[in-house]
Amino acid sequence: DMPDCTMMNKNGMVSKIQTRIRMDPFKSNYDVVGKPLGRGKFAVVKKCIEKVTGKEHAAKFLRTRRKGENCRMDIINEIAVLESAKANPFVISLHEVYETTNEIILVLECAAGGEIFNQCVGDNDDAFTEKDVIRLARQILTGVAWLHHNNVVHLDLKPQNVLLTSSRPLGDIRIVDFGLSRRMDNVKEVREILGTPEYVAPEILNYEPLSTATDMWSIGVLTYIMLTGESPFLGDKKQETYLNVSQVNVDYSQEVFEGVSSLAIDFIKSLLIKNPRQRATAEDCLKHAWLNGHTHPYNGHGHTRLLPSMHEPETSQSESDPEPERP
Ligand code: ADP
Ligand code: MG
Repeated sequence: DMPDCTMMNKNGMVSKIQTRIRMDPFKSNYDVVGKPLGRGKFAVVKKCIEKVTGKEHAAKFLRTRRKGENCRMDIINEIAVLESAKANPFVISLHEVYETTNEIILVLECAAGGEIFNQCVGDNDDAFTEKDVIRLARQILTGVAWLHHNNVVHLDLKPQNVLLTSSRPLGDIRIVDFGLSRRMDNVKEVREILGTPEYVAPEILNYEPLSTATDMWSIGVLTYIMLTGESPFLGDKKQETYLNVSQVNVDYSQEVFEGVSSLAIDFIKSLLIKNPRQRATAEDCLKHAWLNGHTHPYNGHGHTRLLPSMHEPETSQSESDPEPERP
């Protein structure tokens, strides 16, 4: 739980952190290795080795000034959310924080398997099977249910912000990038235009209040992409994408969902609903038959990607989906 000294502004941003910000040089404690692990709008993430332990980490370098504006508050909010989620096994863990004149460096647990995005894009050997997606979706939902239970909304869930501990063999998920996250308690209303059009809920585009349901829409999009390799709302132009989202224009045809179970489609349909109040919650989703071993292969055209083990009797989550170890 959040400490008593937590301060929040009206937008749900947290302004007090517990982590001590180090001012000594990052480079005297870490060696940066290899090419960058990834890049976002304002950040570059590099693999680094902690000199005293020899342990691998991922350092996220965030500029404190962006477009002439001081963004230190946004970064402090990101740190605060990571701190508050440190008991959540599916959220990336924060090791240390450094600050220099121009940037803040978050030293994070390294998710060596990279973005799930890389294994979503269709015709490669690494593409997920439905069985993989069921396991990963349960982890994402367990992590997000935990955040929502603690009144945190992520607001930027997309295939680039869900990473894997390893890719071969397929490891566990880690949710990253809390740069747009907000605390929903003691906040009258959060309305902001955030995120990437392809993955954001209609209420974001319409400047309506955001809620935990906003993340659930994104999980619907994420699941669609993991199963089909296609982005459900992406149009040729930005305007087309906006229109597809606001009209909930989704293709559920057998062509797109070849070899995918009808329960999976039913699951996605429970999330890609315009009215946020009617969308399934993370808790609802975890109870859905698709994630609880009731899945039977789709009987239409094409092959099923399900394995026979999926037809075994239901097992409890703790048996079938143990929590991953954390360092
Ligand atoms: P931004 O806020 O700029 O989008 P992210 O936190 O999403 O920054 O990081 C950008 C990219 O860097 C991610 O999409 C991912 O590819 C990579 N990355 C981020 N954190 C880690 C990590 N802990 N381990 C490995 N790669 C990471
Ligand atoms: Mg990102």
